[in-house]
Amino acid sequence: MGLTTLANLIDGKLTAPTSGAYLDVYEPATGKVYARCPDSDARDVAVAVKTAEHAAPAWAALPASERARHLHRLADAIETRLDELAREESRDNGKPITLARKVDIPRAVANLRFFAEAITQWPGESHVDARAINFTLRQPLGVVGCISPWNLPLYLFTWKIAPALATGNTVVAKPSEITPFTAFRLAELAVDCGLPPGVLNIVHGLGPKVGQAIVEHPKIKALSFTGSTRTGAFIAEAAARQFKKVSLEMGGKNPAIVFADADLSDANLDTIVRSGFSNQGEICLCGSRLLIERSIYADFKRRYLDKVRALRVGDPEDTASDLGALVSQPHFEKVMGCIERAGAEGGKLLCGGNAVKPDGRCADGWFIAPTVLEGLPQDCATNREEIFGPVVTLIPFDSEDDAVAIANGTDYGLAASLWTRDLARAQRVAERIEFGIVWVNCWMLRDLRTPFGGVKHSGMGREGGVDALRFFTEPKNVCMAR
Ligand code: NAD
Repeated sequence: MGLTTLANLIDGKLTAPTSGAYLDVYEPATGKVYARCPDSDARDVAVAVKTAEHAAPAWAALPASERARHLHRLADAIETRLDELAREESRDNGKPITLARKVDIPRAVANLRFFAEAITQWPGESHVDARAINFTLRQPLGVVGCISPWNLPLYLFTWKIAPALATGNTVVAKPSEITPFTAFRLAELAVDCGLPPGVLNIVHGLGPKVGQAIVEHPKIKALSFTGSTRTGAFIAEAAARQFKKVSLEMGGKNPAIVFADADLSDANLDTIVRSGFSNQGEICLCGSRLLIERSIYADFKRRYLDKVRALRVGDPEDTASDLGALVSQPHFEKVMGCIERAGAEGGKLLCGGNAVKPDGRCADGWFIAPTVLEGLPQDCATNREEIFGPVVTLIPFDSEDDAVAIANGTDYGLAASLWTRDLARAQRVAERIEFGIVWVNCWMLRDLRTPFGGVKHSGMGREGGVDALRFFTEPKNVCMAR
């Protein structure tokens, strides 16, 4: 079978990169190249920005309900092709098809619908006293840049594009070059749905070429980025020089904290397992540090390991697979290196730790068995640095204070989950831990109205709900004397 050649979306047309060059796109489950992605550069970004600028006034002038209609139409198109897109997302990323069907693609639909509805329901602000009426306009910024990572490709891409478009901006967006496929499908669907040309532009390619050109382009007014803390730091620095607005969603080293009084029903234990290994641990929200109150440590460990050992690693196309392949060979090697380092730091391997070689078509894929370690000091690299793979460390703690100190003992602060029946304790701990998101007796239960994001090295700004609408608009206060 020939390779599929992807294209950029510029000015409403599917376009080849100016360079004429392409990057290989791999199927992680087989380790084989199956598509070619445009290796675009600053020249393509410049054209995209120009068309986005040209399209901006008319798009901003549409009533919110009209922009919402466009977003709903795109959502309808994705929904109609849910199975096909889920298959493509799974092939591109290595994630189990069941996850793509249940989470990734439905969430892309939900993102578009949520912001379509949000923009028609967003109340304005006014402040009145005896002297004047103040009202605040929230105007679109113009052209904005959206840059997203490979772990939840269409899910995170639409999470940025939807609020940017809903608020009346035009967009130049770059998906990860590692998982560009469903962004290309989105481009095709945008054309089919009659989204006005130039409103959404998608430029494929490498971070330092395309991403950097977006970040540095003077006509791009704001940057919404999700990815690693290292890239985020670069973007923050470059954007500061031009006083651009930035929203940065970055890495995490999240704790799941299990108190002795937790309801450890089978269902809750399943959620705790899922919080470590869902999407092969390649979710920024995954709890890679599992803190367990010492009095229940041994019993919890036994039950937890039974469940982890029962997880099936295999062909992402197989609906029986719980874990698929890691996204790329370099990432596979990085995670295997982290496991080796954990051993060198004194970690005891409780399960996994090895590459998995499934039979058949996946024999050359990048699979790793779910891995659990214990006995590592709190301040070692394994317990402080993001691994972003199927690796969880078990850490005993003795008291609430102890748990809080361990949880806060990294540079990251994205998400934490607490497991306890004591709701007063849950409130206390939630207040004391330094994370942007705290789940109590649940994990990754998302309400799109809530502020989403991290503190410390995990994030700057919040996405979701009104926060996203505010980010993509500029407030202008008008004061009228009475
Ligand atoms: P990455 O930083 O390597 O890449 C993210 C995006 O930035 C890609 O599109 C990439 O091409 C682009 N990029 C790279 N260099 C760039 C540059 N110099 N200028 C502009 N753009 C550039 O991250 P990744 O490896 O794709 O994703 C994994 C990371 O994303 C993990 O750290 C994970 O925790 C994080 N993540 C965070 C969240 C969150 O919501 N906080 C969600 C998902 C993933």
